[in-house]
Amino acid sequence: MRRTKIVATIGPASSSHEQVRALAEAGMDAVRLNVSHGSQEDHASRAGLSRAVQAELGRPLALIADLQGPKLRIGNLSAPRLLVAGETVIVAGEDVAREDDLPVAPSVIGDVLRPGHDVLIADGAIRLIVEDIEGRRARCRVIVGGEVKSQKGVNLPGVPIPIPSLTEKDLKDLEFALALGVDYVALSFVRAAEDVLQLREIIDRNGSGARVIAKIEKPEAVEVLDEVLRATDAVMVARGDLGVEMGAAAVPLLQKRIIARSLELGKPVITATQMLESMIEHSDPTRAEASDVANAILDGTSAVMLSAETAVGAYPIEAVKTMDSIARAVEPSMAYRPQNANAVGDDRAAIGVAMSNAACDVAETLGARAILVPTFSGRTASSVSRLRPRLPIIGLSHHQTSVQQMALEWGVLPLLFPEAENVEDLWDRAVEAARREGLIEAGDLVVLTAGTAVNMPGSTNVIKVEVA
Ligand code: PEP
Repeated sequence: MRRTKIVATIGPASSSHEQVRALAEAGMDAVRLNVSHGSQEDHASRAGLSRAVQAELGRPLALIADLQGPKLRIGNLSAPRLLVAGETVIVAGEDVAREDDLPVAPSVIGDVLRPGHDVLIADGAIRLIVEDIEGRRARCRVIVGGEVKSQKGVNLPGVPIPIPSLTEKDLKDLEFALALGVDYVALSFVRAAEDVLQLREIIDRNGSGARVIAKIEKPEAVEVLDEVLRATDAVMVARGDLGVEMGAAAVPLLQKRIIARSLELGKPVITATQMLESMIEHSDPTRAEASDVANAILDGTSAVMLSAETAVGAYPIEAVKTMDSIARAVEPSMAYRPQNANAVGDDRAAIGVAMSNAACDVAETLGARAILVPTFSGRTASSVSRLRPRLPIIGLSHHQTSVQQMALEWGVLPLLFPEAENVEDLWDRAVEAARREGLIEAGDLVVLTAGTAVNMPGSTNVIKVEVA
């Protein structure tokens, strides 16, 4: 069994029923819809395919909608514009841009640019520096040239941009995504814990059980990392924009820091972007890419993600198979991460954390066959997973959404099982469901951890050792 999960972005190169099914058979655990691009019709069709394939294969797939967030973009150009190093060009908000200017949306850029600011276009491939401001238009010198096309991303590293964390487009996309029944909503360019809380409030108001993934890609979010991690349900190390905003050299250590802290707080963490970039065009990865995937796994990431490789690449299935084989090669060398009990108070969450620490210790000591975690919301499975026990974690819930959400959790085999009436019934049903799936056999020693207050989230307070 592979423990690290694989997220694949579905796009034009992978949108047929056969392709989604082949991706899932190759090892995809979560489907990412990047709603920055493509029509709602396309995304609705991809979401439908994901649910159809999960039903066919009898294996849950987490469905993630990734919102664009407060991203700056080049506006509509009548034709691509070639910029040559040394020349000057005017960058202006769309509302004031003139014929030969480079228009940028949203127009607030005209209010924030100052001499000395860097303007990076197309993931930093094209670099300009602001020399003068004329009204709300910025005269820039081209440092690294290239062809600028409509809608390319623009980054202004270190420049605070006064736009809401959820733009009008995000609010529309969010409403659409929640109507599709997504399991996770990822928010781009998170700058503060409030951004996450605001998104959570809208999700709750909609009566959705979707969890939030905070994408860490801005220096502002890195500065308040702990606050963001405490507010969010899950995290993404969004290395593309993180590298543009903070420089590529900063990414490796930031990745390690974000993963380590997410693990400590029991939040699933996805490592994303350019993991197998050369596989967009080639059927085999470079050795450096294989090492990158392996290192993210050794850092402790819960999941590794494919973007363009599966969305627009020529080898989407091979890319998933490659990640699968690297994970299988690396994982046997990973260690259990026991945690010493810290006095963290007597609230329910703290009790749950202490119980999962102890459950893992008991299971590891006994060499049990599996840890069974009947869970209402999936949180206890997160808590057990963060310790990276070497034995399978079987996460059981009677909530279909929780089962799909657990598909993203490191080492967790999610299973839907019937709602229990009392705690004895809960133990019996959990063991029976795991046996029926062939995950455990009669006579196997298993460790269970769950709550005696059945069907109450956050009430984990029992550990039980049982022979199946
Ligand atoms: C990233 O920037 O690394 C990322 C994952 O975000 P997106 O693919 O939406 O640009």
